[in-house]
Amino acid sequence: MDLLNTLVDKGLRRELPTREEALAVLATSDDDLLDVVAAAGKVRRHWFGRRVKLNYLVNLKSGLCPEDCSYCSQRLGSDTGILKYTWLKPEQASQAAAAGLAGGAKRVCLVASGRGPTDRDIDRVAGTIKAIKDQNEGVEVCACLGLLSDGQAERLREAGADAYNHNLNTSESTYGDITTTHTYADRVDTVTKAHAAGLSACSGLIAGMGESDEDLVDVVFSLRELDPDSVPVNFLIPVEGTPLAKEWHLTPQRCLRILAMVRFVCPDIEVRIAGGREVHLRTQQPLALHLANSIFLGDYLTTEGQAGQADLEMIADAGFEVEGTDQVTLPEHRVTAGGGCGSHESAGCGSHDGAGCGSHEAGGVCGTAAVAAEPRTDLVAVRRRGAGTDLAPNA
Ligand code: SF4
Repeated sequence: MDLLNTLVDKGLRRELPTREEALAVLATSDDDLLDVVAAAGKVRRHWFGRRVKLNYLVNLKSGLCPEDCSYCSQRLGSDTGILKYTWLKPEQASQAAAAGLAGGAKRVCLVASGRGPTDRDIDRVAGTIKAIKDQNEGVEVCACLGLLSDGQAERLREAGADAYNHNLNTSESTYGDITTTHTYADRVDTVTKAHAAGLSACSGLIAGMGESDEDLVDVVFSLRELDPDSVPVNFLIPVEGTPLAKEWHLTPQRCLRILAMVRFVCPDIEVRIAGGREVHLRTQQPLALHLANSIFLGDYLTTEGQAGQADLEMIADAGFEVEGTDQVTLPEHRVTAGGGCGSHESAGCGSHDGAGCGSHEAGGVCGTAAVAAEPRTDLVAVRRRGAGTDLAPNA
């Protein structure tokens, strides 16, 4: 296929595809799907080998958010039955993080629900970062606390944060359809602030919220322009009690095409499969490892993932290897170019499962390749273990 040969050549040269080429990837047929995965897999292996970076989420504060993001189980007035709790103490967060690190994660993503942190919240998170870093040499810490005010990114950097996550989620033109309490421009501003403060910027999207192919391409091109070190790709988990609970449109094949398109547009950036991996990719998750070089281990913010041990077995069975703390995630040219944190790069929470801060989860229909998907509500389970409970975390 000429299209795929062209995209591989461009990916190896870090050259931006055209919008038409990106749209064409989303419009490929199921008959061409393995060719698409193989082509994007060449680009993935060129920049990231067969390594899979593991990230671990700690939900520092759950629910009780005043914002109205329609995909989010923690939104204002939601009736989703999720765990609700206020700030974890540093030692509680450190204990939760330790479980993920013991399971093979090299990055801890500290997430808090809410519009954005107060200066006192930044102090709290600074204490948590210190507690985690004191006990785990070499760990990368990413914060995901919502919209940042002036000076807060610098304070997080001084406190030892390596990265900051804030997702764009969807295209600028549809942003007002999913959230009314803040704007797309607010989100761009926070990613820019994080970048300027020397934090590794992590920003991604949620697919499956009713967006068109054009919307998906728009948001991915906007992300590439912001030049984050990592891009989490969420697949909406339609959690009962949220406005998008009936939005079941994603198929495993659709998810693979989306990941391939993101890889072609962001060839040398950490592409992470975030929330919705188990719910929408299901048995096809191993194929997605040929496209993304990063996943979350264990549970998400408010919903459960598959067992951490199953994640590790899947990676090994598919012929990939867990990235160690002594390995640098990003290609050398991105590390030496500045931004972010050398071996640490990217990402934050970006892990929306149906919950969380500004980035969380997703769901929706999809332009030309839309296929009616069977609702798999049986695969959606509210998290009842780990942070905020007395039960051991999944890692
Ligand atoms: S995504 Fe973040 S800001 Fe939006 S409702 Fe959920 S917790 Fe609040």
